[in-house]
Amino acid sequence: MEVVSYQRVSKVFNSETVALMEFDLSIKKGEFVSFLGPSGCGKSTALRLAAGLERPSNGTVKIFDKSPKKVIKQTNDIAFVFQDANLLPWRTILDNVLLPLELRGGNKKEQKKEAIRVLEMVGLKDYLDYYPRQLSGGMKMRVSIARALAAKPKILLMDEPFAALDEITRQTLQMELLDIWQKEEMTILFVTHNVFEAVFLSTRIAVMSARPGRLSSEMEVDLPFPRK
Ligand code: ADP
Ligand code: ADP
Repeated sequence: MEVVSYQRVSKVFNSETVALMEFDLSIKKGEFVSFLGPSGCGKSTALRLAAGLERPSNGTVKIFDKSPKKVIKQTNDIAFVFQDANLLPWRTILDNVLLPLELRGGNKKEQKKEAIRVLEMVGLKDYLDYYPRQLSGGMKMRVSIARALAAKPKILLMDEPFAALDEITRQTLQMELLDIWQKEEMTILFVTHNVFEAVFLSTRIAVMSARPGRLSSEMEVDLPFPRK
C-alpha cells in the first residue's frame, strides 16, 4: 500500500529560493526511508510537506491518497519528531507524553496507561516524575519519541532527531529506533545528512542533489542483520 507519495513536487520560497524541484517519491507501508543530502537541499521541506506544514508550489503530496492537512486534521496517523526535543519545561516527563493524548480527549486512565507504555518502550519508566531539565539530551530525545508514539501514528516523520547527540548516544538511539519501528509497524521518513546513519537505519535512501532539491537516486539498503 502506498502511504506517502510526492508527485512532481516543487517548492519555491519568496518567489526565488527553489527548495524542491519536481521531486518524485513513493513510499510504501512499513518502509524506513531516509532523505539524504547536503544542507539546504530541501530535506526538511520535503518532510514538512508530508506533515502538511507547507503546501507545494507545484505538484501534489498525498498521504493515504488524501492531502496531508486533511490527514492531520482527522486522524493521529502522522507524528513529527524534530531535532530539538521541544518538551514543556514545567511539565513532568509523564505529563509531556500525555499532552497529545489529552488534546485528543478520551479516558484518562487509558491515556496514562498508554503514556507509560511508550515511556517504558524508550527505557524511561523510572523517570515519569522527572522534569526535562533533569534529563540528558539523549533522554529528552527519548521522551520526544515517546510523545510521538503515544498517539499510535502510522507514519513517523523525523527531522535529524539525533544530530545534536554525542556519537555513543546516537548509536544507542538508532538501535532503539529500529527496534521500535519493527514493534510498532510504522512507516518512517527520516531526514539526515549523515551517510552512515542513513545506511544503518533505512530500508531505502532517497539521495537528494544540492540546490534545487531533486531526487538524484534511490538505493535499496540490505543490512547484515535480518529485519522483521
Ligand atoms: P535541508 O533540510 O536539506 O537543509 P531545507 O528544506 O531546510 O533544506 O531548505 C531548502 C532551501 O529552502 C534552503 O535554501 C532554505 O534556505 C530554503 N527555505 C526553507 N524554508 C524556508 C522558508 N520558510 N522561507 C524561505 N526559505 C526557506
Ligand atoms: P495545560 O494543563 O492547560 O495544558 P500546561 O500544563 O501546559 O497547561 O501549562 C500550565 C500553565 O503554565 C499554562 O497556563 C501555561 O501558560 C503556563 N506556562 C507557560 N510557560 C510556562 C513556563 N515556562 N513555566 C511555567 N509555566 C508556564
